[in-house]
Amino acid sequence: DQGTGSWPYRRSRIDPTAPALGGDGDPIGYGELAARVDRLASTGIRHGDRVAYLGWNRPEAFELFFAVCRLGAVFVPVSPRLAFPELLDVLKDCAPAALFHDDDQRTTAEVASGGIALVCGPGGQHAMTEAGDTPPRRDVTLEDPAVILYTSGTTGMPKGAVLSHGSLLFNTVNQLAHVDVLSTDRALVIAPLFHATGLGQVGLPTLFKGGSLLVQRFSAGKALKTIEERRITAFTAVPTMLRMMSADPAFEKADLSALRYVVHGGSPADPRVVDAWRAKGVTLLQGYGMTEAAPGVTLATERTAAAEPRSAGVPHFFTDLSVRTARGGAGELWVRGPHLFTGYHGQPEATAEAMDDGWFRTGDAVRLENGQVYVVDRVKDMFISGGENVYPAEVEARLDALEGVRESVVVGVDDAEWGQVGAAFVVLEEGARLTGEQIRERLRGELAAFKVPRSVRFVPRLPRTPTGKIRRTDLVARLAREAP
Ligand code: AMP
Ligand code: MG
Repeated sequence: DQGTGSWPYRRSRIDPTAPALGGDGDPIGYGELAARVDRLASTGIRHGDRVAYLGWNRPEAFELFFAVCRLGAVFVPVSPRLAFPELLDVLKDCAPAALFHDDDQRTTAEVASGGIALVCGPGGQHAMTEAGDTPPRRDVTLEDPAVILYTSGTTGMPKGAVLSHGSLLFNTVNQLAHVDVLSTDRALVIAPLFHATGLGQVGLPTLFKGGSLLVQRFSAGKALKTIEERRITAFTAVPTMLRMMSADPAFEKADLSALRYVVHGGSPADPRVVDAWRAKGVTLLQGYGMTEAAPGVTLATERTAAAEPRSAGVPHFFTDLSVRTARGGAGELWVRGPHLFTGYHGQPEATAEAMDDGWFRTGDAVRLENGQVYVVDRVKDMFISGGENVYPAEVEARLDALEGVRESVVVGVDDAEWGQVGAAFVVLEEGARLTGEQIRERLRGELAAFKVPRSVRFVPRLPRTPTGKIRRTDLVARLAREAP
């Protein structure tokens, strides 16, 4: 078995008593983890079957992941945040043989499961164990699919990115080439397992090296408490999580001294939040990647992060980059490497569209400078005003830096004269008083006129996906409804 499901067993040969996996309590050792995985893997599930998990982060979900991999089946973690019709679409698309869920999700899972074997949380793992006694097959190869991850889908139908065991292994090797992961590490897994970040960044590399994981559902206060009390050495988070933690009243006094490194990525980081963490002496490494890359494409190292805190670092060891159609400035990034996904489940056309001769077209506009990657924006979010390219992220960064502005988003809207112009949505800090015209006036001092948003709307909050990506299409739709 070359698959990821054999990792607990292989680690247990090196040190069976070393702590491996826990939630709130003390972690179980590698020997116990391997035994549980093999028990759980004695089921009626067959090679190639999909097994879905609907639930939040918990250590049992990691056990299930390894067990499913051990069987040569495919693990499909599904976000509990999906709306019911979205969940049905996902289940229809992957047609799982079994649907595991945690207790919170019982009702949803029961209604959605129609015809699928339904198994509940930790208790349900018993049920699954008793469901059959087929010994696990040992012929899983690196080419076999390991997981299907549904991309956050800010638009359109869900696409399930299929990651093979080879994708997961090469992503792990890539992470280890950048970060000194240790067998003494105690990592906290708060990034959701239904995203590649939760699984592939920090989590799997730490287990590969024989460190331990605490797997918890995220809340800012609980995470801070766990980091302090359990002397957590590493975690990965999306910028929204870092923001929530640094805004928590406990942050200022929190003892973060055991943290050796924190990886953040998935969306642009607010420099003020990054600075707040750095001021506490924490080494923040920005990573850039996507589900289809399992997920790492670039990652800062301690050296690059110290010199260039705003860059997303350098390409991973086995990752090739190509910046297309760049003329000195930003261009679309294409990525190639053995960690890439093998395609979208059952969607050959979508796969063909995303790939070009082995390269994955990321849709992200990036700038390369001194070998480092700066994420500029989504290519499709770029708009053209009077013939000039406008990258909303650049304008948003200026907006966010204004006194009184908490966060903002800029979208392009049609304009008879200029083709498109910017429309800004702004969330003000509590108590801040600013008018749209004052904001535009300040930006005029900092940005070329064609980049300054034509209109400014104040909103209480921005619509976001679970990973913190702004749902731009919601805002564009809102503007369309406003239009006469
Ligand atoms: P997903 O497919 O949900 O994993 O999202 C991947 C997308 O998140 C990428 O294509 C980027 O647009 C965005 N992203 C990831 N990392 C970063 C980063 N460090 N800075 C800005 N955007 C990022
Ligand atoms: Mg994506």
